[in-house]
Amino acid sequence: MVDTTADVIIVGGGIIGVATAYYLAQRQHGRIIVLERSFLGMGSTGSSVASIEPLAMFPSLATLQKNSIEVYKHFEDHIGGDCGFVPLNLAMFVREKELPAMRQALKTGQAAGSHVEELTPQAFLAHEPGMILDDIASVYYSRDAGFADPVLTLTAYAEAARRLGVVIHQNTPVLGLEVASGRVTGVQTPAGTFTAPQVLLATGLWVDPLLKAVGIQSHVSFLRHYVVTLDMPPNAPQHSFLDGVFDFYMRPEKSGNLCLIGTALNNPADGFADIHNPALEAPGVTQDMSFTVWERVVQRFPVMAAAGLRKGYTGVADMTPDRQPLLGELPIEGLYLAAGMSGIGFKMSPSVGQAMAGLLAGDAAAMALLAPLRPARVEENQLLLPENHFSLIA
Ligand SMILES: Cc1cc2nc3c(=O)[nH]c(=O)nc-3n(C[C@H](O)[C@H](O)[C@H](O)COP(=O)(O)OP(=O)(O)OC[C@H]3O[C@@H](n4cnc5c(N)ncnc54)[C@H](O)[C@@H]3O)c2cc1C
Repeated sequence: MVDTTADVIIVGGGIIGVATAYYLAQRQHGRIIVLERSFLGMGSTGSSVASIEPLAMFPSLATLQKNSIEVYKHFEDHIGGDCGFVPLNLAMFVREKELPAMRQALKTGQAAGSHVEELTPQAFLAHEPGMILDDIASVYYSRDAGFADPVLTLTAYAEAARRLGVVIHQNTPVLGLEVASGRVTGVQTPAGTFTAPQVLLATGLWVDPLLKAVGIQSHVSFLRHYVVTLDMPPNAPQHSFLDGVFDFYMRPEKSGNLCLIGTALNNPADGFADIHNPALEAPGVTQDMSFTVWERVVQRFPVMAAAGLRKGYTGVADMTPDRQPLLGELPIEGLYLAAGMSGIGFKMSPSVGQAMAGLLAGDAAAMALLAPLRPARVEENQLLLPENHFSLIA
């Protein structure tokens, strides 16, 4: 018989929910149950490009990222298993008007202990000759960067959590929250009610209906990423890139002969009507879209004209009004939110998991770290808006 009583119920089996379950179990925070409506990784996590770098505009996020990169670098020692981490230096191209934002990000990253520096375009060309950087004023460069395999990472966290006693139920959608006298007492599922004094919603994009039913607005919207895949020609660039001018991010695959290029294309044909229906197939990347992105890439890296086109894919990211995560307590006692990861949730998931576990356990350091990211900041009109901005993807 299924045990439906827990100390913490985590709703959502993406990287944020599962990593938090693992760190709660590590803290011996009682009986932990994860409920996933479909299968682990079916949300943003399964389609993530999974680049890892320290770019952040605010101290709390810079700390979360710095600590996460350390976990990725030594994943087997920390978690056990393989996350497929490949170290790869990051270069982000910055125009004149973005210099103030870049310098703010450099200061923030350095204060958190990350390796980040500014290179002139000429100095960067020594690393990657053959690129066209005429329109670039400066390069944000980091050796604290790379990428991992999102499915391997999630699987490793799930296995580590199960070893510590976490129970994960897949194919178990949460249909609603149970609330009595202002505090959460459990969740409803087709298999009956699961009870717990603490419930964490780590449902990514799909948090809206659960919160709306208890009178809370989620403020989570979405952005579809289009990921174009190219065969890498010989002499292809060997960095992880963020290009704010042509609006794409790009990294090679582990095999070395494929690369992934992500962007947020405007696609009027994509009505996004499928967002709450995972049974419907997501729109793909058309050949026209692939050519548009490929042309942008070639303008930066002429050598990529010799690349070959492969089938791309799309994925959705959960966004917030200030494009920073919503992490913390909600106005119902015992109810917590870790969502709205705004397209940057994979790279910081180890630390978000650690900090959310700390928050649920009443740890003062975790509470202080997450205070600026509290969901209430939206209603309080305390959005985390930096003085200076990069472009959309960066
Ligand atoms: C194409 C793409 C590229 C990206 N690239 C990067 C990158 O390079 N670097 C980076 O850091 N981040 C990247 N991201 C963002 C990153 O992948 C996400 O921020 C992260 O995976 C979010 O994880 P999550 O656990 O919060 O959400 P999800 O992975 O979406 O997990 C939420 C889970 O909750 C489940 N769920 C929802 N509702 C219910 C319910 N009612 N009951 C039970 N279960 C429910 C869903 O089925 C889902 O499995 C990218 C995202 C996309 C789409």
